[in-house]
Amino acid sequence: MSKSIVIIGGGPGGYTAAIRAAQLGAKVTLIEAEHLGGTCLNKGCIPTKALYRNAQLLKDLDNIEEFGIKIEGHSFDLDAMMQRKQDIVDRLKNGVAQLIKANAIELIHGKASLLSKDTVKVIDSEGNEIILNADNIIIATGSIPSKPPIAGIDSPGVITSDEALSINKIPASMVIVGGGVIGIEFAGIMNALGSQVTVIEFLPRILANMDSEISKKTALSLKKSGIAVEVNTSVTQIMNTGDSLKTIAEGKKGKIEVAAEAVLISTGRAPNVEDLGLDFVGLEYDKKGIKVDEHYQTSIPGVYAIGDVIGGMMLAHVASEEGIAAVEHIMGIQSSINYDAVPACVFSFPELASVGLSEEDAKEKGIDYTSGKFLFGANGKALTIGEAEGFVKVL
Ligand code: FAD
Repeated sequence: MSKSIVIIGGGPGGYTAAIRAAQLGAKVTLIEAEHLGGTCLNKGCIPTKALYRNAQLLKDLDNIEEFGIKIEGHSFDLDAMMQRKQDIVDRLKNGVAQLIKANAIELIHGKASLLSKDTVKVIDSEGNEIILNADNIIIATGSIPSKPPIAGIDSPGVITSDEALSINKIPASMVIVGGGVIGIEFAGIMNALGSQVTVIEFLPRILANMDSEISKKTALSLKKSGIAVEVNTSVTQIMNTGDSLKTIAEGKKGKIEVAAEAVLISTGRAPNVEDLGLDFVGLEYDKKGIKVDEHYQTSIPGVYAIGDVIGGMMLAHVASEEGIAAVEHIMGIQSSINYDAVPACVFSFPELASVGLSEEDAKEKGIDYTSGKFLFGANGKALTIGEAEGFVKVL
């Protein structure tokens, strides 16, 4: 008899798991509280990359004379940019909806919580209560922006990536609290759109998870394009002074104050475990996420969790792979993920990409290695496209 699986959350983890399960012959119900595609499609990867493309074109236009091309002035229309971004999101969302339909997956729009190891309660978009029973449940509820306990963090004008993706005016100046991937991507976009950007990072370097040589070089590139970068600096307070937001921070250089029109908080994301009934059913989790074993099975056998909600590498393709691995385990297929082979990108200027261990990781693990590096400044293709900054490094 075929297995029945209920999947909570229709992001890249949940919808990929649903499709794989249907392909393997399971009877699948997918529950989504907001929009199919989750954070990635609606408030993450796709909208940021759409705006990144705008930023890239504007930067190219700024440097167009280097290519012997003359253009008399240029400007941009933010509403049209936002509409283009939304059209891309809607088109992809439609594509996901069609895949769900084509694979005969039951889709319920509503908010789900666990009642037991095999029962889920859904309050649907019309307010009706639906009780679902299943052989297995997969939790794929993703993550939400996390805000550190900084005084004044809820002041008007202090935003997260969620709001930054639908602003209707480019602020003259912006402080970005947190120099991780999301903060650095927004720094490049806002800078290209004309905002005076200051990035404040608590750790000794931005992009702390990347190879230190890459993060140092990126900090230099940001500074060269006019972005101020303060590292080893901790924000203590954000004050609304009436005409601006004053960000107060303490660093090695002492106290600094930066006045700006907007403040973006990009200090990380927290697993979305709210109102899921985890305590009610006694499922183990902590602030890093739901605890799972190597097959993505939670502390309750038969209940699985995947993607951002289990913490670790919060990337869309990781969520999808974990969804596939969990489903394959349910369906009796051996499956595992090699986290050392996960590619990661940062859409900064210049773009960054990495896979495998960083030099720091290799040192920490006591691995004997040699390192080779080639500068783009000596690479023909890089020079012809006017992207001579950066390098390839192989360990
Ligand atoms: P999510 O995509 O968060 O989906 C979870 C879904 O569950 C949501 O749709 C939510 O509405 C639903 N849900 C939650 N609770 C319930 C409930 N109780 N009942 C029913 N449904 C529920 N990753 C990349 O790989 N590349 C990138 O370039 C990239 N850029 C990013 C840029 C930004 C600004 C952000 C914020 C993230 C970015 N990410 C990127 C990360 C990526 O978006 C996440 O890793 C990915 O979306 C995680 O997928 P998920 O399926 O685990 O969760």
